Amino acid sequence: MHAVSTVYASRIQRFRLPRVCVAVVGEDAANILERAESLVRDNPFMEFRLDYLSNPAAGLPKLKHFLDMHPEATVIATCRRAVNGGKFKGSAAAQLDLLTKAAATGFQLVDIELQSAQILKPAELAGLKDRVGVILSFHDFKATKKLEDTFADMKRYPADFYKVVSTATSLYDNVQMMKFLQAHSAQYEMVGLCMGEQGIISRLLGVRAGSVFTFGSATRGEETAPGQVTAGELRDTYRIDMVDAATQVYGVAGDPVSHSMSPIMMNTAFRRETVNAVYLALHARSLKDLMACINDIPLRGLSITMPYKQDIVALLSNSDALTRQIGACNTVVRAQDGKLYGFNTDVAGIVTPLEQRLTLHGAKILVLGAGGVARAAVFGLKNKGAEVFITNRTPEKGQTLARQAKAKYMKRADVAKSNFDVIINATPVGMGTNRQSPLEDKELNTKYLFDLVYVPAETKLTRMARAKNIEVIPGLEMFVQQGARQFEIWTGKPSPIAEMSFVVSKALERMAPAEEEPSAPSAASGNGAKPAAKPPAATTRPAAKPIATKKAPPAQGKAKAKAAKPKPAKKAAKKPVKR
Ligand code: NAP
Repeated sequence: MHAVSTVYASRIQRFRLPRVCVAVVGEDAANILERAESLVRDNPFMEFRLDYLSNPAAGLPKLKHFLDMHPEATVIATCRRAVNGGKFKGSAAAQLDLLTKAAATGFQLVDIELQSAQILKPAELAGLKDRVGVILSFHDFKATKKLEDTFADMKRYPADFYKVVSTATSLYDNVQMMKFLQAHSAQYEMVGLCMGEQGIISRLLGVRAGSVFTFGSATRGEETAPGQVTAGELRDTYRIDMVDAATQVYGVAGDPVSHSMSPIMMNTAFRRETVNAVYLALHARSLKDLMACINDIPLRGLSITMPYKQDIVALLSNSDALTRQIGACNTVVRAQDGKLYGFNTDVAGIVTPLEQRLTLHGAKILVLGAGGVARAAVFGLKNKGAEVFITNRTPEKGQTLARQAKAKYMKRADVAKSNFDVIINATPVGMGTNRQSPLEDKELNTKYLFDLVYVPAETKLTRMARAKNIEVIPGLEMFVQQGARQFEIWTGKPSPIAEMSFVVSKALERMAPAEEEPSAPSAASGNGAKPAAKPPAATTRPAAKPIATKKAPPAQGKAKAKAAKPKPAKKAAKKPVKR
């Protein structure tokens, strides 16, 4: 059998379809109707999951009313069989019967699985296609493999759209999907994406590679497939409607990255400065996977986060002096020649907010911690002529950093006896659901407290400092400043820092409903602070105000010096991801 066009093929042309189809589920038809009515204004392209209804056929008359009342909407009827990953317990014949009734009800498109097509008689499928636009679909809930073999099977059946959905277990699976879409989208109406948190790239870039549309959830919590992003995010944050062949791709790579605020901040900056670019969260389980992806997508720039800031240095063609000095890179640029260059903007993220408030030369500054961010702080502040002290839970690590950076190590017992111009918290204590403070009240003898923890916006430490009339510099400022420098390095344009700050503050406010401060023991004893993968639970104040817009220095040129000597790998515990 060969694919043939029908009257419906011309009615459902790709240019008439929005790029995002919203999957609507409900326990009964009334529920679906209610959701659809509230969504249709912003989402004229929807998929009704009839298989979620206990009696799909009985629900059709109610849904007909919606279709009659909304001729502007294009709606797919899907009644996926349980054996193929849906909820419909009936046979393939019963599914065909239901989809035929759906066509008579007024649905413009129906989705039927390849496995059902294989069971039905050719004439039955052809009959369905004569009545309605047919999406022939295939879902692989485990992997991305044998896409060509699957499509060879699918092409034997007539359809208006061929939809292939796989599961990404690596970033490179997205590349496979995009290559597959590119190979066939000129000849066939293709829809393709990878499910899973690692497949988010394909949901955005699939449309660039030839997928006629993609799927989004109505809201967070209403996902019908793992890794689904909301339709609102696809349109507003990622601007999917303007993604085209010229769109440059950037992203934040790390493990985990699902709660990163970087996509919302950087996409806002690109939109504000009308840069044709999209910024994605890249969940890289290994650097090898990330590098394979960089070569094929191709990515123009990357923010690097835990646990790869140190390991990536050895894989770069070149890096700037700061990156080599600190041994950590948080910004990668892919040049026209395909080579990768590394920069460290964490230093600017720490130094710039401080320089906006005080003279660093000669300032007495205590850094808590000796990890990656503490290294950026200590080297950056030493370069500015500050007198830098370090204290750390594991004294040996603090002493090593002090030696390397020509700073001074301070025993924890001496902190309470000292006065500082600035204390910087570069530990995770206070982050996420951790409600502790890395210092006791009597140890907070300083003019400024810079808490680099920015999720939540307000920590126990910042509250303690405010109570002592110490000026607090929120961690948000570091986050925004390091991102602003990245934007400038990548685009050569001044960053829209006020907008970047505003959008992150708003996102932090949304994440953290106010609640009373819990009584938690002080972390001065050094116990129990684990970075939380989940959003923060609490703040007692609104999120920090958007920060002052001070124009950052111009973008740096390509680094000339040799790449820094690789440091030993810093292993981070793998967190489970939503599949
Ligand atoms: P890291 O490399 O893991 O270093 C963590 C440091 O904190 C280590 O020195 C560690 O001491 C110390 N530490 C960990 N748990 C502790 C505890 N319970 N009590 C006392 N000290 C503890 O982490 P990192 O990459 O430097 O990041 C540190 C924090 O900076 C992050 O958690 C994050 O909140 C913040 N940050 C902020 C931004 C921003 O833009 N604002 C960006 C990145 C990071 P040991 O040496 O004894 O293990």
